[in-house]
Amino acid sequence: MSSTTTTTVTTHGETTGIPPCNEIIQTLVEAGLGHRLLLPTNSAYESRIESWWALNSRLHPWCIVQPHNAEEVSTILKALLKTGSDSNNSNNGEWHIAVRSGGHGPRYTNNIDNGVTIDLAHMNQASYNRETNIASIGAGGRWATVLAELQKEDVFVPGGRDGSVGVGGFLLGGGLNYFMGRQGLGCDSIKNFEVVLASGKIVNANAQENSDLWRALRGGGSNFGIVTRFDMDALPSRNISYGLRMMSSDYTSEFVDAVVHFTDHFHEHDGDALVPWVMHTSRLAHVGVVAAAIYVNTEGDENSTAFDRIKQIPNIHPDRTFTDSYAVAAERSQMAGGAWTTNATLTFKNDKQIITRVVDLHSQFVQTLMHALGGENFDSMSFLQPLPGFIGDISNKKGGNVLGLETRHNMIMWTGGILVKTNQNDYDMAHGKLMALMADIKSYAASVDGEGRLKYMNYADPSQDCLGSYGEENVEFIRQVAARYDPTAVFQKLVPGGWKISRVGVE
Ligand SMILES: Cc1cc2nc3c(=O)[nH]c(=O)nc-3n(C[C@H](O)[C@H](O)[C@H](O)COP(=O)(O)OP(=O)(O)OC[C@H]3O[C@@H](n4cnc5c(N)ncnc54)[C@H](O)[C@@H]3O)c2cc1C
Repeated sequence: MSSTTTTTVTTHGETTGIPPCNEIIQTLVEAGLGHRLLLPTNSAYESRIESWWALNSRLHPWCIVQPHNAEEVSTILKALLKTGSDSNNSNNGEWHIAVRSGGHGPRYTNNIDNGVTIDLAHMNQASYNRETNIASIGAGGRWATVLAELQKEDVFVPGGRDGSVGVGGFLLGGGLNYFMGRQGLGCDSIKNFEVVLASGKIVNANAQENSDLWRALRGGGSNFGIVTRFDMDALPSRNISYGLRMMSSDYTSEFVDAVVHFTDHFHEHDGDALVPWVMHTSRLAHVGVVAAAIYVNTEGDENSTAFDRIKQIPNIHPDRTFTDSYAVAAERSQMAGGAWTTNATLTFKNDKQIITRVVDLHSQFVQTLMHALGGENFDSMSFLQPLPGFIGDISNKKGGNVLGLETRHNMIMWTGGILVKTNQNDYDMAHGKLMALMADIKSYAASVDGEGRLKYMNYADPSQDCLGSYGEENVEFIRQVAARYDPTAVFQKLVPGGWKISRVGVE
């Protein structure tokens, strides 16, 4: 299942012109891992850089190292720390380490210019044990290939909806999925993590062994070590029915009503899923902002009544509907990357006036960008995903996670996204406007007593304080677990990408 080829490098005498990098290469060669290195001088290096989803994540590390198993990850980590760390693990600010799974995270989280990127791409195996009903999934897999492998065994796990998203980041951040109404977040189905700690020790974290680490890794991100395998409860495979409806913004009121109603009645339709959003797309620039919804019945029922309200809204062209295995659905939905892009996210109560305001604010945002960039040069979306309180109850029943999900109120998770197709300057401008849009939504939600706490890591801008949004108890818990398993704070200092417990409170 390996998706890339590591070029064998004979690094004897090879020099990169960067002294600390030569030292790193030498150390990795001495550790027997020279053949796992990709250097800028190797032909496969540049095409690997292009596999990062967002253009602004396509940084150029001194070298990429591609381990094939947990033992190699351990050897790499030990070698890098031996070369690089000072007593403070700050490395004198000289170079750092990034960790990458599917490469779908935003800039600054999964790649690095000044240092080494550990790319888990070859650790993409998926297998199923019928006796234990556990699916074991390599941390560098992508959901389309993982689900296709599990489908051969007639099972699945609640994973990504987009097939090209990586397993590692998705599960460590939580994992919103089509099966949430019954299974909770993706991370709630993880029975065991195999983790390489900063010391190089390989440990398991589950309900019996290192149980604090097990819970902390359910949503706690890259604060504790490098996860090399996820063991998840499997479910018997079946077909799901799914459709995409596109609606004109003339029906905003009906659209908002349908979102509010679905969210408040989700518990009665826990086998269904709705992903609603409003968007401007460069392909349909002439049409203006449109509303859209993906509707899914996870039992393969094409006529589920959960979507009656959405389906009563006239569509702007015929819905695209399918009934397939989840593996095929994930394979079919893979959003193309290659643009300057970021997301930002927050939560608020499931309230008609807040959602209506979001739709209005998003339309104004689009107008501003149309003016500045031209409609054909960007896409923008405001997702409005239902996150009712009973999902938090499911998570708690399955052992809990650290996101601090709201259980008392039905919430909506807003995610704003932009894809800019021109250049970095335009992106910087659009990014600033997106952050301003978020601030406006937040202040409106607060003004009507509807603001939520959670800033979901998987959809956040790197500047957002995601871990801080998990609530004081969870923050303190993550802090203690990080200190216990990474006492010299390697994953806070030498591996700076992602949301770090040491940076809670900084936004
Ligand atoms: C098109 C698209 C669709 C999406 N759909 C969904 C969705 O349906 N539901 C949802 O919840 N999210 C979704 N997301 C968000 C997605 O889950 C996050 O971007 C996630 O971080 C991607 O995981 P990755 O492995 O591809 O990312 P990467 O960028 O490789 O990793 C993300 C972060 O996790 C760290 N990391 C990754 N693997 C490991 C590991 N094994 N050990 C330690 N740290 C690790 C990285 O260092 C990085 O900081 C989507 C994103 C995109 C772009």
